[in-house]
This record gives sequence, C-alpha cells and structure tokens, in this order.
Amino acid sequence: MITAKYYKQLGDNMVQCKLCPNNCVLKDGELSLCFGRKNEGGTLYAVNYGEVVSMHMDPMEKKPLYHFHPGKYILSIAPNGCNMRCPYCQNWEITQVQAPTRYIAPDEMVRIAIANESIGICYTYSEPLIWFEYILDTGKLAHERGLVNVLVTNGMINADPLEELLPYIDAANVDLKSMDPDFYRKVVKGNLDTVKHTIKRMKEAGVHVEVTNLMIPGYNDRDEDIKRLVEFVASVGDDTPLHFTRYFPYRGFDAPMTPINTLKHAYELAKQQLKYVYIGNVDILEGSNTYCPECGNLLVERFFYSTQVVGVSAGKCTKCGRKVDIVM
Ligand code: SF4
Repeated sequence: MITAKYYKQLGDNMVQCKLCPNNCVLKDGELSLCFGRKNEGGTLYAVNYGEVVSMHMDPMEKKPLYHFHPGKYILSIAPNGCNMRCPYCQNWEITQVQAPTRYIAPDEMVRIAIANESIGICYTYSEPLIWFEYILDTGKLAHERGLVNVLVTNGMINADPLEELLPYIDAANVDLKSMDPDFYRKVVKGNLDTVKHTIKRMKEAGVHVEVTNLMIPGYNDRDEDIKRLVEFVASVGDDTPLHFTRYFPYRGFDAPMTPINTLKHAYELAKQQLKYVYIGNVDILEGSNTYCPECGNLLVERFFYSTQVVGVSAGKCTKCGRKVDIVM
C-alpha cells in the first residue's frame, strides 16, 4: 500500500487528511468519505492508488475541452469516489458508492495510452483529485513519453498539493457549480473559495483551463448568478472557454430540466464579456462551434462529437490571421 501524501498524525492513532478542504479526521481503521484514503494504525494510506473504476477512449470534446487538441481522442480513466456529494450526480454509481476496480500500475497505464494512439491520459468521470499520488506518478511517466495529462475536476484540492501537481497538468476542465458559497456548502458539500483558487492558480501556471457550469433552475440560473460567474471567469482571462450545460432531473433532485431559453440567455450574457462561450448537453449548433472573436470566421465546426477544424491554418484564423486561442 502507498502511504498518502498531505496528512498529519493527531495522536491516539487519529489522522487528518490535508489533501482537500474537507480536511477529514479519520479514526484508526476508518475509510474516508471519498473512498481514497484509509487510516491503518495512525498511518494514512492512498488505498485507491492505481485502482481504476472506468476506462475508455473519448473525444476531447466529451470532457468538454473545445480549445485543446480539437477532434483528438484521449485515454480517459477514473478512480472510485468523490470528495463532494452533489445530490443530482449523473455518475453516482462510481462517485458515491463503492464499485469494483482493477489495479493498473502507472507504467502499464502509459503503455495502454500509447498502444491506443492516445495523445495522453485524462483523469475524469468521478473526482480525479482524490487520486493525487497516482496522477503524480502516472503524469510524470506520461510526460516523459511525450503524452499530455488532462484533468476533469471539481477543483477541490488544497493549495500545497495543487502546487505539487500543476507541473504535470497540461489542461483541465474545472466545474464551477455556482458563485454562491452557500450552494457549495449546503447543496453539493464543497468549498467555493478553493475551487476559485484552483482555477486562478491553474491559469497562472499556464495550464489550459476551460470552465463548466451546470445550469440548475432555481439554484444558479438568475441573471445575478450568471453575471457573477462570468465576471469571475473574465477576471482570470476573457479567452477562457465557458461551457453552460443543461441539467436533467436525476435521483429525485427537485429542480426541473434547464429550459433551452435559459441556456441561450446565459450564452448571450456571457458573450458580452467572454470570447468563447458554449452550450452543452443540448443540440444547439451555434452553441458548440468556435468562431474567431476578431472577424467571426468559423474556426472549428462541431456536430455532437464530430469535429472539423475548418478555419485554422498554422495556428491562425484563415480569414483575418488572428492567432487562435486553441492548443492544436
Ligand atoms: S481527499 Fe478524501 S480523505 Fe482527504 S480530506 Fe478530501 S475527502 Fe477527506
């Protein structure tokens, strides 16, 4: 078993995990709420190290990442568990209950990525940050072999482990669920300030970042909510792609499906401050294409997961020559 990083011993064989802002205190023999860590005799172990609950080859657009190697496929893997508790989670079978896993060592995972002609490894589906030690080890090996590392994450990680991880992360889609700290605390059991810090630090460290906001009627869809979210995203860079995605009722959560007009309205509000805004989980074509912010030229055309780069040549817009904000 691998000893966990970022924890402290409290005496009486108790430990406190310092990986994420939950800062869980665990008694001897106790498994963490994220299923990733266990206290055995006063030592905290990363019991999820290398334990894979899900593995697929996915298009980058599915993450969603629209400005990072458009149209390319990436090996996508997940641990079992999560450090939040969204009551409407679509992946609850692998995030909120224990599920069967299979051990795959870091070097074997890198071999699988190369054998599948993947451009890298994406840590996704559940909450990858609870796989901290495994991502560090696998990510280092992946970089040595010329592969990229991508996170799809809720952004819930403390500052010190985040700094250790950043050099190995090339791109991330971070879920920014709301700008209301109470929504984070009461509804999804998370910490808004931590998520904002993660997004800011990723941008400062040169990670390619895209932000996703699941619009839930009655919870985060007022104009005021949208404006605060857009202002924050603009403050880290108005070239940061923002994806509004449609919510569907799930697991008895009390909100109705997001109306299409709500998504369109959010799109229009966000476009006043941001260069790239998208609408996901719904078939609105103009909401998934990428246009040049200078001249309006169609740069990347998307139809579900079919992607065509149509208006980019040598990293520039074919019409006006503006450098595109896309990692090709
Ligand atoms: S990573 Fe898991 S064990 Fe550690 S503080 Fe977060 S939820 Fe608790």
